[in-house]
Amino acid sequence: MITANARAVFNPEGPFKLTTIERRDLKPHDVLIEIKYAGICHSDIHTARGDWGPVQYPLVPGHEIAGIVTQVGSEVTKYAVGDRVGVGCMVDSCGECVNCHKGEEQYCLNGNTGTYGAIDRYGQYTQGGYSTHIVVTEDFVVKIPDSLELDVAAPLLCAGITTYSPLRHWGAAPGKKVAVVGLGGLGHMAVKLAHAMGAEVTVLSQTLKKKEDGLRLGADHYYATSDPETFKKLAGSFDLIVNTVSAEIDINAYLSLLALDGTLVNVGAPAEPLPVQVFSLIPHRRSFAGSMIGGIRETQEMLDFCAEHNITPEIEVISANQIDEAWDRVLASDVRYRFVIDISTMEEE
Ligand code: NAP
Ligand code: ZN
Repeated sequence: MITANARAVFNPEGPFKLTTIERRDLKPHDVLIEIKYAGICHSDIHTARGDWGPVQYPLVPGHEIAGIVTQVGSEVTKYAVGDRVGVGCMVDSCGECVNCHKGEEQYCLNGNTGTYGAIDRYGQYTQGGYSTHIVVTEDFVVKIPDSLELDVAAPLLCAGITTYSPLRHWGAAPGKKVAVVGLGGLGHMAVKLAHAMGAEVTVLSQTLKKKEDGLRLGADHYYATSDPETFKKLAGSFDLIVNTVSAEIDINAYLSLLALDGTLVNVGAPAEPLPVQVFSLIPHRRSFAGSMIGGIRETQEMLDFCAEHNITPEIEVISANQIDEAWDRVLASDVRYRFVIDISTMEEE
């Protein structure tokens, strides 16, 4: 067993405490990664607080992992010691079902193994990236292009791929009007990526507080959803709406903003249902869809796209003893635009 230092919550309310966790000894296809940075995703908070169902404590969250390979198993071919690598929201899948064969491991019919809070194929409870080391099978590791620093690469492993995948799937491109609801971790990546794909981008945020940022990040238009005029003015406008909001919103109001054949894709994952009126969809042949992260191949494609187009998240680097504070700020929508933990501070009081 390999012992790693980690920050864990021991109950839904926290706080985080420094602890140690065990990582398995390397299997032939495993790599050991020394984690340098870990992003804080709103999903970490949903999970730890039990929004999505019961979890086992202690829980070490973190699925936006960037680090360096420090050891490889005897049959590893894809990575070598010293490589700069990333790990996202999953660390394994069955590898045999039709969806795994398509490279869509996130939709594994036998359930992919979450980076934390899941039972892996060895019967061990997985623990995430708020830790110093992780052991992952090489097929679930991606290469971080040289031009991307590790701190800004980390959030791409979830916020980046979760927005890249639906933008690609639903064809964000020149001539398409894309709206992004919520300018947080996922939302600000959606703006940057949709802009780089050539779409006309609109941000729909609760207020105009972050308007300057939104336009700087690549949005062409910016509206406050607290203003009822916004919904009148933009009715029937968008080909694609990406909803990144972590809380319940009136989804019918947003569906009314879709043009003919438009799609609203939900990536935000609140605990509450989002009830849809069928007449929000029928009159303009609209679709309401969901999307979950992205496959490993597409995650590599996204990293390469970000390197090529010089796209990186806006981050605030924190030390490990500031995670509780950072979570409070995420819950208050006070994040510009992703917190990233500097793992070298793991043992600081
Ligand atoms: P985040 O940084 O907290 O961003 C969420 C944004 O939603 C906030 O910045 C805020 O934007 C808006 N918002 C928050 N509360 C709201 C409310 N009550 N009403 C209206 N708008 C509100 O969170 P994140 O890390 O980007 O994650 C967003 C959601 O995506 C979470 O539910 C997370 O679990 C989910 N997620 C899903 C996947 C997937 O695979 N589908 C992957 C990762 C995360 P404004 O201030 O601009 O209004
Ligand atoms: Zn995430």
